[in-house]
Amino acid sequence: MTTDLDLQNYIRNIPDFPKPGILFRDITPMLASPEAFQQAIDLLAEEYKDQGVTAIVSAEARGFIFAAPLALALKARFIPVRKPGKLPFDTHSFHYELEYGTDTLEMHTDALEPGDRVLLLDDLLATGGTMGACIQMTEKAEATVVGCAFVIELCGLNGRRNLRGKDVFTLIEYP
Ligand code: 5GP
Repeated sequence: MTTDLDLQNYIRNIPDFPKPGILFRDITPMLASPEAFQQAIDLLAEEYKDQGVTAIVSAEARGFIFAAPLALALKARFIPVRKPGKLPFDTHSFHYELEYGTDTLEMHTDALEPGDRVLLLDDLLATGGTMGACIQMTEKAEATVVGCAFVIELCGLNGRRNLRGKDVFTLIEYP
């Protein structure tokens, strides 16, 4: 680890984005700081370096930003999860509940194999719907979920209740 920055200083709060009443946690100041971005990846890599992670599963779009360098740091495969119709090969689709309605995410059918040890990663945990779907996709492929990691957790939304008791690791927590 090269730096000891307070990573919360690299998150910008944007009121009423994308809708009135939402306080959006903007990660772009962190991405614009090579030191802060590197520190975030180093902390994640340190947490999981001895856990035999073979693949990192992450949902588009902001999760990819952290998942790609972490996959290289852990020498693990990067597995993208995307919105319907974006992945070019055969896919498994997973439907999941939102507060109002449902959504769908897809993964390539050959992305994971039984025996894989998978770290699930996203930039932010809110309700846990996105991560819950990634857990189900990973377990349907008979791979093992090592843990769920986030740069930011919005604790007040209690997203952990949707994560099926999996281990959770976060770098920045908001009440
Ligand atoms: P959840 O499925 O847990 O309700 O929402 C998490 C997903 O929504 C993440 O993939 C994340 O990128 C996105 N998201 C929701 N709110 C925010 C926010 O305030 N800031 C950022 N950076 N992403 C958010």
